[in-house]
Amino acid sequence: MRVKITLACTECKQRNYNTKKEKKTHPDRMETKKYCKFCKSHTLHKETK
Ligand SMILES: [Zn+2]
Repeated sequence: MRVKITLACTECKQRNYNTKKEKKTHPDRMETKKYCKFCKSHTLHKETK
């Protein structure tokens, strides 16, 4: 079961990525390091609703 999620930068709160995740493997909020073009660096991105 795949669901669409949005990943937001924890530094500037910009929503930078739309992706999908497997709900079985990630039942909780996903956190992943990704490049933020607003911070111009790799920051932690969290799943938002
Ligand atoms: Zn950012």
